[in-house]
Amino acid sequence: MAHELKSLIEISKKIGKRPDYVQGGGGNTSVKIGKNKMIIKASGFRLSELRVKKGLVSVDHQKIVQFYSTVKGRENITDVIIENDRVVKDSIHKKRSGEELRPSIETGFHSLAGKFVIHSHSVYANIFNCSKEGKKILSKMFKEAIFVPYYPPGISLTIGVRKALGKRESKIFFLENHGIVVCGETAEDAYVLHEEITNCIKKDLKIRSQYPKIKVVSAENGCFKSESDQVSDLIRKHKKTVKKFRKIVLFPDQLVYGDDVGFLANAGFSIRIDVDKGAVFYNNMSYAKAFTFEEVFVAWLFIIDQIRRFGLTLKTISKKEIDFILNMESEKYRKKLCK
Ligand SMILES: [Zn+2]
Repeated sequence: MAHELKSLIEISKKIGKRPDYVQGGGGNTSVKIGKNKMIIKASGFRLSELRVKKGLVSVDHQKIVQFYSTVKGRENITDVIIENDRVVKDSIHKKRSGEELRPSIETGFHSLAGKFVIHSHSVYANIFNCSKEGKKILSKMFKEAIFVPYYPPGISLTIGVRKALGKRESKIFFLENHGIVVCGETAEDAYVLHEEITNCIKKDLKIRSQYPKIKVVSAENGCFKSESDQVSDLIRKHKKTVKKFRKIVLFPDQLVYGDDVGFLANAGFSIRIDVDKGAVFYNNMSYAKAFTFEEVFVAWLFIIDQIRRFGLTLKTISKKEIDFILNMESEKYRKKLCK
């Protein structure tokens, strides 16, 4: 077990230090040990922060698999959410220290997948996941992959993964407007597969430049401002689209971390984007919070820029789905943990 846990932490750190793979507390990893034990990232932690005694929760994933085998997908979603929360809570192996962490919102689909699981918000996969032509292109590149249409994170997504999977088996799942899931018998297998997919997509799209380095620096009056590479140019290049940041939603974390974005000075927004100057200002918030939004915003800009560069068509999340995410208790919890 010690070895499996150690290798899980290793790949989590490798994936977690890449802002082109995960942004903020997004993405998660897990390993199944023996019959009834799955160690998974806790909600609200960054992948790069995981340690043997930090940010991990142990659950009996069989209880969760059993629960999902009874869900038909036609039930009232509120009832399923309540029951799921009860089952997941009941599946947690309590720690001797009494510390109570909440397992990742995606514990459901991790339970259904292979031994080692990596779920990332890779911007490369998301160029296709957030474009209308993406599925067709990816299915030619990765014949064995499973495509899951957009579902809100958590329970609905788990039901969606189960439905898309059917009786098949796969180590690759592309999640529309969300990210990617890869599995492996060993941590290295899963990591290598994630790298192979990244390299394949980058090659196909001829992406040779470095992903922007994320940088947030102090500004006047205790505020922060963006100094990430290329951001100023990208904002000005996609001025009209950036102005619709609240409406052009490509993935759920955009809403979780970017719900207080505005464009007018002195209008009271914590995050203000000046599209003419190509600048982002952070007011009344911690450096960590500003940095998290910066990671999410750069990912959003990068995906939009690449989609346009290749003449693909943006596929966004609908207004109804936006409202659903903004009201999710689990997402409010995740946001609260980002201090
Ligand atoms: Zn995710």
